[in-house]
Amino acid sequence: MMSWLYLLASVLLILGLQGLTDPRGARRGIQLAALGMLAAVGGTLLSPELRTYLWIALGIFTGGAIGAAMAIYMPMTAMPQRIALSHAFGALAAVLVGVAEHLHRAAELSTLQHAALGFEVLFGSLTVTGSLMAFAKLQELLPTAPIVYPFQNATNLGLFGATVLLYWALMTTPTSTPLLLGMAALGLVVGILMVLPIGGADMPVVVSLLNSYAGLAASATGFALGNQVLIIAGALDGASGFILSILMCRAMNRSFTNVLFGAFGTPTATTSHADQTIRSVTLEDAAVQLAYARKVVVVPGYGMAVSQAQQTVRELAEQVAAHGGEVEFAIHPVAGRMPGHMNVLLAEANIPYDQLKEMEQVNPEFPSTDVALVVGANDVVNPAAREDKSSPLYGMPILDADRARSVIVLKRSMKPGFAGVENPLFALPNCALLFGDARETLGRLVARMKAL
Ligand code: NDP
Repeated sequence: MMSWLYLLASVLLILGLQGLTDPRGARRGIQLAALGMLAAVGGTLLSPELRTYLWIALGIFTGGAIGAAMAIYMPMTAMPQRIALSHAFGALAAVLVGVAEHLHRAAELSTLQHAALGFEVLFGSLTVTGSLMAFAKLQELLPTAPIVYPFQNATNLGLFGATVLLYWALMTTPTSTPLLLGMAALGLVVGILMVLPIGGADMPVVVSLLNSYAGLAASATGFALGNQVLIIAGALDGASGFILSILMCRAMNRSFTNVLFGAFGTPTATTSHADQTIRSVTLEDAAVQLAYARKVVVVPGYGMAVSQAQQTVRELAEQVAAHGGEVEFAIHPVAGRMPGHMNVLLAEANIPYDQLKEMEQVNPEFPSTDVALVVGANDVVNPAAREDKSSPLYGMPILDADRARSVIVLKRSMKPGFAGVENPLFALPNCALLFGDARETLGRLVARMKAL
């Protein structure tokens, strides 16, 4: 029965991942994956090795309560932090299981199991602190800018090398508890130091890379315990996290090494808005432009998530259509604060999928667009990424909203976006700012357009 449940769990997890490859199947994918986890937990509860259910019941109750509270109370905008915390918990579980197995059964384990257990503890420990650091940076408990210190890359590589040496020493004396604990302690330090010099703008890549590490640690736990579903689920997690990291690096036109060792996001001298003329537009003018536009491209960003403007954006799109215009939504792969953030919000507002356009599809359309309406996006429409070699964003592919005939930007102030750099788009002659909370502004625009 246990093996059948494990098999069912593995199939459901694979189908769940497959569902996540497309926004239409994403909800179903998540539901299938949740069922898969349930089957895996059910299978484990039937394990003949279990002697008492007391601690397990306590664990399920506590973990379930924490998980439910996180799901209910943490807002969508805090999803990346939530995911980072989950990785920290997952990796902590892998480390604790590894250490417990070592303390109870070190003498009985095979060489392969020792190797897997050491790997699990090594990767698990650096994932625990690395994920906690990512959480603290994303939650702004720590400064989001890279914290740099002299010889940081050499120190980090040296410490990681020392951790690997301890792993090697452990393989020669696998029953040594001080070696295992020493390696875990050094892994915890490496996790902290590894994430410290990485800027907030690179955190999504770091979080998905740590996701991959947590998966690898779980898979190694599966080898150490002889648990097939852990091996499969961990491998799926490890591989998908790694692929996601590569895709995100590509979306930002960065290499892995640049993300991990580049201290991206260090404040640099950029053009200041102080000596630029910024135009603002009145609500009335913006409503008229939108009502008479033949083609409008909406560029949603993090600000849309903050103001929860997705429903109002749909109402505005309906108004443009009612006045005879065509509307599309331009989706940047790293808009918002998590991969797919904009897709999720726009799907929640029932915006038809065929109106959502990926960056490569929509960029050639901007020159023939009458109005690009930027709703709380900033970094993903920053032309400095295309033109200014001194900009920390240089090289990141952006949405070419600046090439539209007219650009209207909805934001509350002149504050920069997540990367902390100023945006020359705002000073372009075809661009005007409409200040205020995005949802409120959109609501008033909709009301004005109805009256036109
Ligand atoms: P940005 O963070 O660059 O800009 C968001 C803009 O929204 C700000 O200019 C802000 O201006 C405005 N804003 C905030 N709240 C409101 C509101 N209530 N109403 C109107 N405007 C508002 O967002 P982008 O989506 O353009 O770029 C995403 C950035 O986040 C990139 O740098 C990316 O690398 C990074 N990132 C991406 C992740 C991902 O996986 N997608 C994860 C973590 C980081 P103001 O305060 O003046 O209103």
